[in-house]
Amino acid sequence: MSEINKDNKELKCSFCGKPKSSGKRFIGGGGIIICSDCIRSSNDILNRLEQAEFKHTIKPVPKPQNIKKFLDSYVMGQDQAKKVLSVAVYNHYKRIQSSIIKHSDDDVELQKSNILLLGPTGTGKTLLAQTLARMLDVPFAIADATTLTEAGYVGDDVENILVRLLQNCSYDVKRAECGIVYIDEIDKIARKSENKSITRDVSGEGVQQALLKIVEGTIANVPPEGGRKHPQQECIKVDTTNILFICGGAFDGIEQIIENRINKKNIGFTSNETKLSKEEKLVNKDKIFAQVETHDLIKYGLIPELVGRLPIISTLDHLTVDDLVHILVEPKNSLVKQYKKMFSLENIELIFEKEALQEIARIALNKASGARGLRAMIESILTETMFEMFSEDKIKQCVVDLDVVKKKSKPKFILKNSKEIA
Ligand code: ADP
Repeated sequence: MSEINKDNKELKCSFCGKPKSSGKRFIGGGGIIICSDCIRSSNDILNRLEQAEFKHTIKPVPKPQNIKKFLDSYVMGQDQAKKVLSVAVYNHYKRIQSSIIKHSDDDVELQKSNILLLGPTGTGKTLLAQTLARMLDVPFAIADATTLTEAGYVGDDVENILVRLLQNCSYDVKRAECGIVYIDEIDKIARKSENKSITRDVSGEGVQQALLKIVEGTIANVPPEGGRKHPQQECIKVDTTNILFICGGAFDGIEQIIENRINKKNIGFTSNETKLSKEEKLVNKDKIFAQVETHDLIKYGLIPELVGRLPIISTLDHLTVDDLVHILVEPKNSLVKQYKKMFSLENIELIFEKEALQEIARIALNKASGARGLRAMIESILTETMFEMFSEDKIKQCVVDLDVVKKKSKPKFILKNSKEIA
């Protein structure tokens, strides 16, 4: 660049007016010249603006121990999974923060670590993801992997996962780009065999490939109203680089693969199984699950590329009778608290006896659906009672005991004048 402009005057920075003779570097284009000082301060301004935007997008991230404490109030048991998630989520949002606050002397790039949760149905996988998003106040969406198809087939395009995320934050793209997506039933899109077959496994591998792109980070074209993309439709561009994907699945049968690998089968592990009680069998299954490794997942039918993008793996334990009783009573919005509140609105005190809660938990355990069936059970125990009692105004107390759960009697009422009736 010449030191003299066409009017024979010394070049000056178009922003601060510093002359070229000041010894600064000058960059020019389109009739405008900028000195190195102004470039640096513009950079600082941009960084500050981006940081301010980030602060507006997500709240400061609590420390892992505080994240765990928050999870403890809503999710019972699952201590190990809660610890793993607390650290993973903390690191995830710190990583986003550090990528925005650029350290010029440090070129270590932190890579995104999505999460895979394995565990029986109804044990809290979705609840964990949901509670994390609520605590961090970031947008959240749940997707069911079994409804997804690769582009060109009947079903939901994978981009539709992002439609739900956008809808849940009123289409604030910046907020959606820092959200959490929970993909359920990831195990159901496993390909049928580890070896690629000659005929393509459309349902499984194709969807996994399609998912891979958004999970690892891409600029996805999202049709704002969902459904199939069509040429006339204006799509929203969503960068998935900072979206945290938590995938979950029951992975039924993977224990065989894990067992074979750790070679327990050959030393009589399985032959003893038949002598174990149901509870002991479940504890055993938890222990085997806890030893899962990436290769087991690949053997199960996840493609290695997808497994590679889910580097944080945690397993959830089955829920014991005690866990289920805790779930009924302890969480901030536990079922017992909710029903008590409902009754209190009618000025009736609802009491569940301990044995009744234990029996409800035992029945749920036998159904093998985790905590999933608890609400329906309580609803069926109390529907008739609510129908009768909520039309009365003489009742003070309603007691659910063991016989009520065993369907041997109806809940006991205590009238305002203290007389007990069945
Ligand atoms: P899944 O593991 O199949 O994703 P969910 O998280 O959807 O299970 O659990 C189903 C319901 O059961 C939740 O809405 C929640 O009320 C209850 N639940 C399951 N596990 C727990 C748990 N560990 N603590 C508290 N509630 C739980």
